[in-house]
Order: sequence, then structure tokens, then C-alpha cells
Amino acid sequence: MVSAIKIKDVQVSYHGHSAIEAIDLTLEQGKVLGIIGPNGAGKSTLLKAILNLVSIDKGVIEIFGEALKENRKRIAYVPQRNQYDWDFPIHVLDAVLIGTYPILGIFKRPKKKDKEWAYECLKKVRMEEFAHRQIGELSGGQQQRVFLARALAQKADIFFLDEPFVGIDATSEEMIVKLLKDLRDQGKTVVVVHHDLSKANEYFDELLLLNKQVIEYGSPQQVLIPEVMRKAYESELSFLYEVGVN
Ligand code: ADP
Ligand code: MG
Repeated sequence: MVSAIKIKDVQVSYHGHSAIEAIDLTLEQGKVLGIIGPNGAGKSTLLKAILNLVSIDKGVIEIFGEALKENRKRIAYVPQRNQYDWDFPIHVLDAVLIGTYPILGIFKRPKKKDKEWAYECLKKVRMEEFAHRQIGELSGGQQQRVFLARALAQKADIFFLDEPFVGIDATSEEMIVKLLKDLRDQGKTVVVVHHDLSKANEYFDELLLLNKQVIEYGSPQQVLIPEVMRKAYESELSFLYEVGVN
């Protein structure tokens, strides 16, 4: 089976300063990968590089063995929540329907069956009762569930989520984790940027510890050990004891 994502020697810079460099990574299909690392480690930048939202200085990125543009429709992306414009008035169901556009094509109007599919995706995140609310009226956890529904509506094969659990309630977090594992069990590939290490070993099959470069990549058991974590969190040693890594 072809790898879901293959990254070779990738570097990204902002204004001449590299944010990530010498990144090598091969991720097989049917895994939930967690990308962890301190603030400013380049986690979001790595996702944006894979999604071609920032340009790379050098290196090669392949999605299912091809350039991204060949597979764009197979990729869903849920950005960090603070990057959305909440003043934009949009109903929950319409926000989910946007997820069907890559399938519909931009010139086709959504039909009844597309709306039904969007509604079904809302049901998967138990947000169907909120279908006709304005998205700005929802709590953080509810918003995140709607954005996951939108990603589900897209019928993608790879899902990227950037810090999906920040500022959300425990119930929403549990539900999202379960849905991500269900996707994995269907053979989909899920990549999650994650800040809080406390549940990293429960949530992810594999972890990529990033601090500008790949510090370690492997199973949670391989990555969540003090000798390894220390290399990325040099200035945050006490943090390791808080999360019980020992
Ligand atoms: P993380 O998601 O791990 O917190 P980021 O990928 O957001 O890290 O940022 C990595 C580094 O790149 C940081 O030093 C950040 O300040 C810088 N950076 C990120 N985005 C930009 C940008 N648009 N312009 C300039 N610098 C940026
Ligand atoms: Mg980030």
C-alpha cells in the first residue's frame, strides 16, 4: 500500500528565518498521528506545508505517492479555531455543506441529497439540533464538532486537525477522539496537532515530536520518555513531571 504522506528534507522559512528544517517523515495509511512539540515548534507550519498553504524552500512532499494537487479532494483540513472569522454569518448546516463542494464542484448547487448527507454528518457529531443556528452562537466544543462534520462531509481520506481540543469541553473532546479513531479503523489517515501531552498516549498510534526539526517519531512509548521529551522541551522540564512522563 502506498504511504499516505511522504516528506523528504522539507524546510519552510518566514522572512528568511527557518521555522522547520530537514523534515523527513513517512506516514502509512490507517494511522492517527499526533504532532507534538512546544509553542512555536513549527507544528502548524508543517501542516500548512503539507497542504501547500505555505511554500517550501526545499524538499519534496507526496500525498499517496503524488503531488498534493493530484489529491487535494482527498484531504480535509480543520485549522486552528482562532483562525476562523466568526463575524461571518453562516448557518451550521451551510458550514457543513461547504465540505461537499470539492465533490460537487463549484458550479453545481447542493441538491437535496447533499443536504441530507450534510445533516447526516451533523448527526455523527450530535449537532443536528443546531443545524439552523448561526455558527457564532455555538460554544467552542460545538463549533469544533461542526467543523469536524464539515470535514466528514468531504469524504476525505486524510484528515488534518490543528489543535482541535483547545478551548473545548471534555464531552466534545471525547466524541472527537472517538470519531477520529473510527475514521482510522475505516483505513483513513488522521493527523492532529496537539499541545497537551497528558492524553497523547491514549489518543495517538504514532507521535511526531517536533522542535523545528524532527526530534523523534515513533510509538507513544518510544516518544513519551524523558530523555526524548527533554530534547524538545528543554525550557519546560517541570512540565514533564506534570504530565507524569517518567
Ligand atoms: P506551532 O504551531 O508549533 O506553535 P508555528 O508553525 O505556528 O508553530 O510557528 C513556527 C514559527 O514560525 C514561530 O516562530 C512563529 O512565530 C513563526 N511563524 C509562524 N507563522 C508565521 C508567519 N505567518 N509569519 C512569520 N512568522 C511566522
Ligand atoms: Mg500552531
